[in-house]
Amino acid sequence: MSGRQELLRSLPAVDRVLQESPLRQLHDCLPQQLLTESVQQQIASLRQKLLVNTATVTAEDLAPLRVAEQAAAACRAYLQPSLRKVINATGTLLHTNLGRAPLAPAALEAINAVAAGYSNLELDLASGQRGERFSHVEALLTQLTGAEAALVVNNNAGAVLLALTALGKGREAIVSRGELVEIGGAFRIPEVMESGGVILCEVGSSNRTHLKDYQGAISEQTAIVLKVHTSNYRIVGFTKEVPAAELVPLAREHDLVLMEDLGSGMLHDLTGYGLPQEPTVAATVAAGVDVLTFSGDKLLGGPQAGMIVGRRELIQKIKRHPLARALRIDKLTLAALEATLRLYLHPQQALEQIPVLGMFAGDQSQQQARCQQLLEQLQQARLPVDLALVEDIARVGGGAMPLAELPDWAVEIAPRSGSVANLTARLRAATPAVVGRVQNDRLLINLRAVAEAEQDTLLQVLVSVCRDAC
Ligand SMILES: *Cc1c(COP(=O)(O)O)cnc(C)c1O
Repeated sequence: MSGRQELLRSLPAVDRVLQESPLRQLHDCLPQQLLTESVQQQIASLRQKLLVNTATVTAEDLAPLRVAEQAAAACRAYLQPSLRKVINATGTLLHTNLGRAPLAPAALEAINAVAAGYSNLELDLASGQRGERFSHVEALLTQLTGAEAALVVNNNAGAVLLALTALGKGREAIVSRGELVEIGGAFRIPEVMESGGVILCEVGSSNRTHLKDYQGAISEQTAIVLKVHTSNYRIVGFTKEVPAAELVPLAREHDLVLMEDLGSGMLHDLTGYGLPQEPTVAATVAAGVDVLTFSGDKLLGGPQAGMIVGRRELIQKIKRHPLARALRIDKLTLAALEATLRLYLHPQQALEQIPVLGMFAGDQSQQQARCQQLLEQLQQARLPVDLALVEDIARVGGGAMPLAELPDWAVEIAPRSGSVANLTARLRAATPAVVGRVQNDRLLINLRAVAEAEQDTLLQVLVSVCRDAC
């Protein structure tokens, strides 16, 4: 008991701890209040430990320098960026949790060019008059899709909300039950409609919807026929959906807006790369769909953005809606998007410079050679892990092309002692962080989404973490 009292009495004073050098070094870069609070917390936690079990605390733990070191370590977290670089070794190319598409060099240059200074974001340099921020990408988008007009907003979820609200508020939109999708947690088509004030009119069953189902649902109240690309799941088997092209005459006859949420929105046909057949944006426009929406950071390989393309008078109406202001795209994104879209003017250029397109195109033998090289480098490092080259599958991800599987290879790592969970935690804590995939209690490192330029860094992180893991 007396030992505890004595230890409690020797808890250092806050002011005394603040004098120690680890905290003095932080005076210039962190607020005094933060340092003080951190010391107070450290002392409070020591006091608590002493009251619960004296054996967990030694006299050295109470030394002012020791307490200062602990408090300073907690404060230093404020000086580290929270959002930071990750090497994506999961084999999922458009991983929403990892920021989806990496940008092309041209997009990065474009961001740099406008970020540090001023730009003609909303100034028409030819006339000196006020301009429209959409104008910087509208010509590119209409050229690439064949649509009459276009605008861009914050993301595709915003694009769908805005288009539905501007074109259908207070009226009905007909949607097939098989297309009432939920994409990534909070984005559910029925809820988006409800918040946009559009009344949902569901037709068909979850696996089969026919043209006559749409026909039967049309009333005075109907404003929109909506098609939604079921990008993150597929109903396979006894199914029937009505392609947008077959809905065109129906929509025309009843003077309805035919809208399609394409989700990913392919600008170029990628079926040559082992990806499933899917209509391009241009093909959907040509089929006669009035308004289309798609993402900037899925198959397009650009920044987070939502594209809306379609008939001029409808796009005008959407542009003038107050929500368009609330969902507007920022200048850095716009710069990156414009540069990315420009690359698409020349298909070969797009393929060579847009990182995700290059990843789709990468063939299996090329991937095998890269993995083989990494395997040999890891073997040379004589690490306490078992290594193997294994066949693997890469995926598109990001809620795009659920069934697409790209045959691939991976390096499999199994620690000889210690757990895979410990290994993956240490890789996530490394700089840069490395995220792989765990399968059958082994770590798989897939190189499909790892840039050539990242491969040396990946090797260094793997070697240093695997070496210390045991
Ligand atoms: C991904 C997706 C969305 C949401 O797009 P974001 O750009 O992530 O907001 C909406 N609809 C469909 C069909 C999608 O696939």
